[in-house]
Amino acid sequence: MKIALVVSRSNKSQEVKQALLTRLEQESVEIDEKHPEIVISIGGDGTLLKAFHQYTHRLSNVHFLAIHTGNLGFYTDFLDEELEDVVACLKEKTHQTYQYPLLRVNIVQSDKCISHMVLNEVTVKTLTGTLVCEVSIDDALFEIFRGDGLCVCTPTGSTGLNKSLGGALLHPKMEAMQLTEIAALNNRVYKTIGSPLILPKGESVRLIVKDAVSPFVVIDNIDPIHFETQDNVEITVSISEEHIHFINYKNIDFWMRTKNSFIGK
Ligand code: NAP
Ligand code: MN
Repeated sequence: MKIALVVSRSNKSQEVKQALLTRLEQESVEIDEKHPEIVISIGGDGTLLKAFHQYTHRLSNVHFLAIHTGNLGFYTDFLDEELEDVVACLKEKTHQTYQYPLLRVNIVQSDKCISHMVLNEVTVKTLTGTLVCEVSIDDALFEIFRGDGLCVCTPTGSTGLNKSLGGALLHPKMEAMQLTEIAALNNRVYKTIGSPLILPKGESVRLIVKDAVSPFVVIDNIDPIHFETQDNVEITVSISEEHIHFINYKNIDFWMRTKNSFIGK
């Protein structure tokens, strides 16, 4: 079996990496960074997000397994002291799996188009000034948003930034995405819906940033993409046909994952 490791910089993660590699030496496991079948992240959610983005081109060939050495570890199923379980899991001939929905975001400015996958959320925001943005659902204008920004999240991203923005928590069996506002202007002159919107698969949200604001598009809190103001920027988000697949060894239910992360074990 071919595996790749994505490891956070912390000393703890580096130690866990060494300990895991030592244990795996006796097993028929090959490290293959280019064509892994299993990607193991060692760190927190940030590391799993990084691992996801490193292997978005191989999502249908790869299963993820996340070991926790970080702070929260919403996506991480294994504790650092459970390496025996990790090895036992890797040794199994066939694996049970679970999958989570993803978003696809296409960003167009003049003749340039870029496309990214999203595991948690994509946000559009400004550093200074008010973001002015047409919000269309399936090409029909819904509202003109003014405020700090907008966030579109996946079901598993709903417990991330979306939760802090007052969004609902969505079970990942629902192939849905959620649009939330970041500090919307709402007064006699400017109006937005004010509530989070939950959209089904097949629908798309298009955000067209207008006027002299230069927006940032941030995907999963990784490297913001900055756009200059000369032309409108069009950001279209929809639910992807692709999923992220995890190895299921412990059968952790989504609501238990949520409880463990926010209420306590
Ligand atoms: P970070 O600043 O370390 O993340 C903030 C916290 O959110 C960390 O405790 C992180 O877990 C946790 N987290 C990440 N994804 C989550 C999810 N899907 N459900 C529940 N909690 C989650 O930055 P990061 O580790 O690179 O994570 C990026 C994500 O953090 C973003 O995509 C966003 O969803 C979230 N975030 C939220 C806020 C906010 O609520 N105001 C602000 C910034 C980022 P770990 O400790 O295991 O990394
Ligand atoms: Mn983190």
